[in-house]
Amino acid sequence: MTSVVACRVCGQVQRVGELPPGAAGECCRCGARLQASVAPRSPRATAALSLAALILYVPANALPILVMDMHGAHSESTIWEGCRDLFQDGQWLVAAIVFLASLLIPLLKLIGLFFLVVTTERRSTSWQFERARIFRIISAVGSWAMLDVFLMSVLVALVKLEQLATIRPGPALPAFAGVVTLTILACARFDPALIWPRRD
Ligand SMILES: [Zn+2]
Repeated sequence: MTSVVACRVCGQVQRVGELPPGAAGECCRCGARLQASVAPRSPRATAALSLAALILYVPANALPILVMDMHGAHSESTIWEGCRDLFQDGQWLVAAIVFLASLLIPLLKLIGLFFLVVTTERRSTSWQFERARIFRIISAVGSWAMLDVFLMSVLVALVKLEQLATIRPGPALPAFAGVVTLTILACARFDPALIWPRRD
């Protein structure tokens, strides 16, 4: 089976035959390596990484993300409790950002990745434009995932400045960092060309 590929370097459009696994084609004009989209990758790596992220999502939300010692009082709070406390303190904007960045968006990204994997595995030709858009959104949102970590460090710095409390990251933080990293990797391993299966 041959496919038509455009060279990313010189733009030459050329026919490329089927390549053995691990092989790469060279541009017939400039010799640049051609994108290995001749044999689209399987979505299984994305499925495995997304599943691992989903498993880590549980401790990331069930365990305390912040451990606080204030005037001898010890308190631990999960992401959800942190959101609730911020909201009750009238910090509803910060609460909303933390809720979106830490709870909702990571979960929606994982649901989106599973949707892409399942529809791709079934070689579905439904909702292809929507699926391509979902993939673009998930890729673009990747850099936003660190927003709440940044936010949290700002909060910690503020509290430290006031000498009110000592705040330490709780056991949920490494789990949460794992969710973020695995989701980014899962998205990076997804080949969007799989959304458009060849009719052969
Ligand atoms: Zn070329």
